[in-house]
Amino acid sequence: MAFLPWERRVTTTQLELCTSERSGRAGDRLARSLKSVRPERRVGLLALVLIVVSGALLLALPDVTESTRLSPAWLIVVLLVAFATTEVTVFKFTFRRESMAFSLSEIPLAFSLVYLAPGPAIAVRVVGAITIVLLIRVPLFKVALNIGLFAFEVVLAFTVFRGVVRILGSSDTQLVVAAIAATAVCALVSSIIVSLAISQFEGGFRSRVSSELSVAWWLFLVNATLAGMVLGLELISPYLLLISLVPIGLLWYIIKAYGALEQRLRDLDAVHGFTGQVGLSLDPTEIISAGVARTAEILRTDAAAVILFNDDGCGAILKIHGSDGLHLPTGADDENWRSLIMSERATLVSGVELDLLKTSESTVVEIMVAPIRDGSGVIGLLVVGGRTGAGKRFGNDDIIRLQNLAEQLTASLRRGLLHQRIEREARHDRLTGLPNRLSFERSVIDAGATRSSDELLFVIMVDLDRFKEVNDTLGHHAGDELLIEVGERLTAMLGPDDVLARLASDEFAIVGHRPTHADMVEFAWSCVRNVGRPVTLDGLEIVVTASAGVALIDGDHEEGAPLRYADIAMFNAKTQRLGVEVYRDEIDRRTPARLAMLGDLRAAIEGGELRVHLQPKLDLNSGTVVGAEALVRWTHPVRGVVSPAQFVRVAEDTGLIKQLTDVMLHRGIGHLREIHDRGYHLGLAVNLSTHDLLDTKLAQRVEQHLSANRVDASMLTLEITESSLLIDAPRARATINELHEVGVRLTIDDFGTGYSSLSYLRRLPVAELKIDQSFVANLLLDEQDEVIVRSTIDLGHNLGLVVVAEGVENNEVLERLREFGCDIAQGYCISRPLDPGHFNSWLENTNLPSLKADPLDFSRWVDSGEPAEAAPSLD
Ligand code: C2E
Ligand code: CA
Ligand code: CA
Repeated sequence: MAFLPWERRVTTTQLELCTSERSGRAGDRLARSLKSVRPERRVGLLALVLIVVSGALLLALPDVTESTRLSPAWLIVVLLVAFATTEVTVFKFTFRRESMAFSLSEIPLAFSLVYLAPGPAIAVRVVGAITIVLLIRVPLFKVALNIGLFAFEVVLAFTVFRGVVRILGSSDTQLVVAAIAATAVCALVSSIIVSLAISQFEGGFRSRVSSELSVAWWLFLVNATLAGMVLGLELISPYLLLISLVPIGLLWYIIKAYGALEQRLRDLDAVHGFTGQVGLSLDPTEIISAGVARTAEILRTDAAAVILFNDDGCGAILKIHGSDGLHLPTGADDENWRSLIMSERATLVSGVELDLLKTSESTVVEIMVAPIRDGSGVIGLLVVGGRTGAGKRFGNDDIIRLQNLAEQLTASLRRGLLHQRIEREARHDRLTGLPNRLSFERSVIDAGATRSSDELLFVIMVDLDRFKEVNDTLGHHAGDELLIEVGERLTAMLGPDDVLARLASDEFAIVGHRPTHADMVEFAWSCVRNVGRPVTLDGLEIVVTASAGVALIDGDHEEGAPLRYADIAMFNAKTQRLGVEVYRDEIDRRTPARLAMLGDLRAAIEGGELRVHLQPKLDLNSGTVVGAEALVRWTHPVRGVVSPAQFVRVAEDTGLIKQLTDVMLHRGIGHLREIHDRGYHLGLAVNLSTHDLLDTKLAQRVEQHLSANRVDASMLTLEITESSLLIDAPRARATINELHEVGVRLTIDDFGTGYSSLSYLRRLPVAELKIDQSFVANLLLDEQDEVIVRSTIDLGHNLGLVVVAEGVENNEVLERLREFGCDIAQGYCISRPLDPGHFNSWLENTNLPSLKADPLDFSRWVDSGEPAEAAPSLD
């Protein structure tokens, strides 16, 4: 039996753990009685026992000073070298889960039995083996055990050998038989002693012995017969020894090949176990830490780590797991990582070559690195290093092993990351990455549970006002871009504990707390203002306003109520154009009424209840009434007069607007016919909403209404709000062009409230600008408004447009507008919007001149849409 199995077994304990645990309870008597003594000491004691027993046996041997056959003195040296060589060339392998060592030490032992006296034989054996043992520095108790064991082996072999010879005789043949018997017994007993020693550390003596003997007996037999065979050949003639080289070589080769196969199986087993342990989890962090631990264990290194890179491809390090002792660089853009990422497979990198390990405490000589890849590329590295002891470098096998482990880890990690993503996606909105409704509702409940009494806890619902239009006109990708931008703007405003979520398409919500009511409302306002800042989509700057509803979270309400209240408040803010609304019980009570209003509006449109009011337009140059704007009026049977500001929005949001516009065109143009029939050649303006521009039949319908009433197209002006023009969709553009071809004039309503670019306006076939009334109203009070009005007038003229000011409430403003060169004015100071009957009598009775069939040159009011000086087309 060779020296090294001991060493081998102690280092591969993990393979044998189950056996040692199972049989630990059996325990052997010796181990139990010596339980209190440290295992090293117990083994030392065993060595001592062996030495003493060897001495006693030696004294009992007959003819102890004589060899069986005479030999030259130099044979001692040969045998010494032979023993040392067999120790070095010991080949370790595992057979049926038992660690074994194949050595040829039985051959020199057989020769010693025949040619040496017992004393010198012991010396040769012990010295030959121990010189090697001393070279590989092992603990003293192991050295002692091996001395005792070798001495005992030799003495035991001699006892058996001489006993057999005494019985059988000492012919060559009988010597060979005796040598086989002696070496076999010796190997057997020695194996039992080694098991006894190991069981001091790991327990399980009996099961160890029985399992070892059940699989290893053939090895003893092979070794012993091989030794006998070689001895036999030598006894015939030393030259025949050469023949023995063939079976020895063959056996060596077979066992070696078997060992290699077995090693591969063990690797596979380890990797399999690795997958079993690492792959159990779906949590990437767990997978990585289990992977790191197992990798270090399997490759017997002091340190292993996984480095994950950010997926932006620039090699930034996301996370390093378990780098203890590796001193890996944490610098995000370290060049070293990049070169390592390049390698396809596991590679060995020397510490010197690698700048990474420059730190003074680092003792790492080399590291192995294997890429962890997913479909798109390298997402991380599995790094192994820290074999610091001399002679413990990584070999080719280790690199292959690491590659295997990295592949297994990758598979588990990918599954974990996928799972993590799916989990995340279930709780987050894919587009903006914000929490979704599901997790927001959770956050609201959690916030309610941990609410502090001295702060106001609230939910804000923020909803974009015209998101659908952006989507319909600019396309979905622009809509997506807008939502992402809104998400980012709101995120930037959050306080440390605020949570933002995207609940539905253009609906965002925030749960947060503020010290006072005023702080809360101010926060809601700043959200609305921030979202309403211009945004550039597809190179086009547009403005999408938002409305916000706020609701307090107090403990009294049922779950989910705050969100519903915030929603109601938001709806109110939107329909009333309030910007921000805080929930009150009153607005909730009005909600069913609002729904009722929708139904009523539909009935009103179908039942012809909508009326047209007309508001005159005055030419400031000539002081002549030149036209009128048609404004919709609805008197609800119960509610009375409903403001268009309220129901036009509702109509727009529900698609009723198409019918509403149609009613206005039909009735408005009908009235215009009457006015013309009365001899007044006025123009008429009808309002369009954004939805109308998406209507492919609009131009056709306009033409029908005009021809049905025999009204020249140039007498009709269609007002398009600036904000709807901002949406530069092909459809809207096409409708505008079709209307222009029909010959109607187009005007830009509410000019100044949007952010349309001049170059864009220039490309549209519009004839007129209407400065928004908000600027006109404060013209005399606010210097800035004055500047705006003035420059808008100049700008309109530069573009060749007629400029209209609306919302003119008094004569001072009217005068100022005239000074500024404004072309037309509209407002209460001229007349409120009037029903057609009153409008007619107003026309009759006003002091202002009107475009009666005769006198003034009114060519500019009836142009065909081309700015200013186009030829008049009168009927
Ligand atoms: P708008 O198109 O800007 O219409 C002008 C609004 O200003 C009208 O309100 C008008 O009554 C009001 N107004 C006129 N002169 C003065 C003034 O001197 N001072 C003040 N403070 N206001 C003045 P109205 O009729 O309530 O309409 C409100 C809005 O509803 C309109 O704004 C327009 O956007 C929409 N609207 C009204 N009728 C229609 C319609 O038939 N179709 C569409 N699509 N929208 C309409
Ligand atoms: Ca208008
Ligand atoms: Ca307007």
